[in-house]
Amino acid sequence: MTPVVYLARIADGAPPEEQAAALENVLKAGGFLERLQRLDMVAVKVHVGEKHNVTHVHPEVVARAVSLAREAGGQPFLTETATLYRGERENAVKHALHAHAHGFGIEATGAPFISADGLSGTDEAEVRINGELHRSVKIAGQILLADALVVISHPTGHMGSGLGAAIKNVGMGLASRAGKMRQHSSITPEVEPEKCENCGKCRQLCPVDAIDEREGVSYIRRQDCIGCGECIAVCRYGAVKFDYAIESPVLQKSMAEHAAGALAHFGAKTVFINVLVNMTRECDCLNKRQKKAFADVGILACDDIVAADQATLDISAREHCNDLAHQSFPKLDPAIQIRHAEKIGLGSRRYRLVEV
Ligand code: SF4
Ligand code: SF4
Repeated sequence: MTPVVYLARIADGAPPEEQAAALENVLKAGGFLERLQRLDMVAVKVHVGEKHNVTHVHPEVVARAVSLAREAGGQPFLTETATLYRGERENAVKHALHAHAHGFGIEATGAPFISADGLSGTDEAEVRINGELHRSVKIAGQILLADALVVISHPTGHMGSGLGAAIKNVGMGLASRAGKMRQHSSITPEVEPEKCENCGKCRQLCPVDAIDEREGVSYIRRQDCIGCGECIAVCRYGAVKFDYAIESPVLQKSMAEHAAGALAHFGAKTVFINVLVNMTRECDCLNKRQKKAFADVGILACDDIVAADQATLDISAREHCNDLAHQSFPKLDPAIQIRHAEKIGLGSRRYRLVEV
């Protein structure tokens, strides 16, 4: 059956309470939470934004999803996993404190923040999948104990995968540390020595100290790099380069296959909510304040992860002449992750759009 994507539009710059009302409209229109059973453990997957990020999904929007899941009889909790890189989200203790600092505390959202991969990102389970790259993937252990999954994603451009939306939020965001490492293993930037001015910024900011100074320029040790892309973002001289053409397709396919592992046991008890508000060219993992690059559209929801992300690209293309991903990183093809997710059975790129 063709999946239905429900879209509630909002005006550009609409305040959080209007965004929350839009979320309620799409969830109710699709009847998604009617599938919950009493006392189901409902994992609400969020991204609270790195330290200086201010364009992440607003906590009030998340709070509305929590309250609706509770009304439907579930026991909702907010969840996320540890990042590979150093920062405010590198382990469960820092992550919970940082979530609170960004407004995702229990008193604001009505739900506790519980890291799905344990104290340091190593609580994991190997899930068998029918992928092309992987036969099994490493997924955050606690997510496999939840009964239902509400995925709240903030679509942005992404320097490795073109698009960061629901597939990335689930594939990367619900993988354990080892699962993330495996996805990033094909991505290693290099410094072009003739362009490097030896300012040292990349060495200061590399979260895993993978950059040395050698003969008056920076040098990246491939074996230690986790592919986070911070050095590319920080270099003002354009001296750090990814070979996007080779590496992005593998990353995108691996993300889709990890999403398959994370979703395998939920059946129909999933909903993917993409918040097309405060969309930026780069993702919420970057430790910097970003300017909104696209006018707000609204909030969409679907029980098909492929349809949700395809609709996000289509809607952003219609509203802004070119889609969110191509405007952000024109050399990358974000459709790779969506096509691959469809190919391995995660959903359908064909959908019916219903505005509510
Ligand atoms: S930030 Fe760029 S210019 Fe500065 S040391 Fe690193 S590679 Fe060289
Ligand atoms: S991508 Fe750059 S900043 Fe990130 S780990 Fe690799 S070398 Fe360090």
